[in-house]
Amino acid sequence: MFVDTATIHVRAGDGGHGAVAFHREKYVASGGPDGGDGGRGGDVILKVDDSLSTLADFRYKRKYAAQNGQNGSGGRCSGKSAPPLEIKVPRGTLVRDAESGRLIADMSGDEPFVLAKGGKGGWGNSHFATSTRQVPRFAKNGAPGDELNVRLELKLLADVGLIGFPNVGKSTLISVVSMAKPKIANYHFTTLTPVLGVVSMGEGNSFVMADIPGLIEGAGEGVGLGHEFLRHVERCRMLVHVIDVSGSEGRDPIADFEAINRELATFDPELAELKQVVAANKCDLTEDEEVARVKAYFDQRQIAFFPIMAAIAEGTQQLINHVAAQLATLPPITRFEPDPEPVEDFTEQKKRPFTLTIEDGVYIIEARWLLKIMEAIDPDEYDSLQYFQRVLHSSGIIDALVEAGIQKGDTVSIYDFEFDYIP
Ligand code: GDP
Ligand code: MG
Repeated sequence: MFVDTATIHVRAGDGGHGAVAFHREKYVASGGPDGGDGGRGGDVILKVDDSLSTLADFRYKRKYAAQNGQNGSGGRCSGKSAPPLEIKVPRGTLVRDAESGRLIADMSGDEPFVLAKGGKGGWGNSHFATSTRQVPRFAKNGAPGDELNVRLELKLLADVGLIGFPNVGKSTLISVVSMAKPKIANYHFTTLTPVLGVVSMGEGNSFVMADIPGLIEGAGEGVGLGHEFLRHVERCRMLVHVIDVSGSEGRDPIADFEAINRELATFDPELAELKQVVAANKCDLTEDEEVARVKAYFDQRQIAFFPIMAAIAEGTQQLINHVAAQLATLPPITRFEPDPEPVEDFTEQKKRPFTLTIEDGVYIIEARWLLKIMEAIDPDEYDSLQYFQRVLHSSGIIDALVEAGIQKGDTVSIYDFEFDYIP
């Protein structure tokens, strides 16, 4: 079965915890704090793998978690950062936020994509030593890694899509013009996984042709694998519409052509606008007059028409030459732009969850939502700090600090940012 959607859960590693440790050496009276930092948690990374053509693997494994960073230790030893967890996806996979449907990434290129970021390691106590606080007995926890549910959706990448009724010879055609070896059989619904074939035109010039499973096969009669497969042609730059010009299955090739185009238009009017060329297959099974009759229909509509016998690769080179020439004039394959991340207004008055712990008189705040803000804050910039102040007020953090008894000049510590409290 061809699987082209899947929902998975990904979790990046948490940062390792910082260590509380003190230097110990013979004859040295009081060693200073030397607890090392925690290591970074592993990222979850997506990467395209061209040996994959379906999302079937994700049916069996739905949870992906990268390792946590190691904790720091004494002697200023930092914990090891965890390696990234790589998830391989077929080219053309769209990645959406499972809840909102927001498009996060279009995995069409070769660049890896960081889907979930590992948490930073926490600082060891050696970071917290100051002139007034010489023996800090606390360290920081690592930050949590990102965690999210994503929906993967395969939209194959091909320059040319093959469309047509079952059994007209699509698989045969792709097998003779490329190295692709699809199943060819004289019954319907033989193609259950998409087949991509590279059609080489020599001199480094090539294009990709797709024979797509169940592509509107039978949809015209309300049977078959359904419309959902049409999403795979949405990215094609043009279509080769294969018809059985001999009508060997008792249907009229022109009626077939019109039926399929109606289906395309119903599914997505833009699809119906794609350039089409017609491959009139199985010329060996009919008379020249019949081919001429069908050709006249397409000539009248100024649609390029190529009589072929796919089974013996007769006429296919002319068809391919024409397709290559057309492609040279068409825009490249569509890549979808990710949707912008929704911007949450953190200055809006609203209680947000956080934890407050007090260690050695230091007020430590932790909250997952604060991590994003911390990343964007520039402590050397006035506006940035003003914004940060507002967030601390609106979220209820300042109120909590006051309630916990914070005094002017006490230290507030939020991840790797420390400042003195000034009421
Ligand atoms: P698809 O369902 O559109 O992919 O069609 P296939 O490529 O599987 O072909 C369906 C049947 O038509 C197979 O039995 C092929 O051998 C046959 N076929 C393909 N091309 C030709 C041709 O040019 N002439 C004849 N007579 N049969 C062909
Ligand atoms: Mg087929």
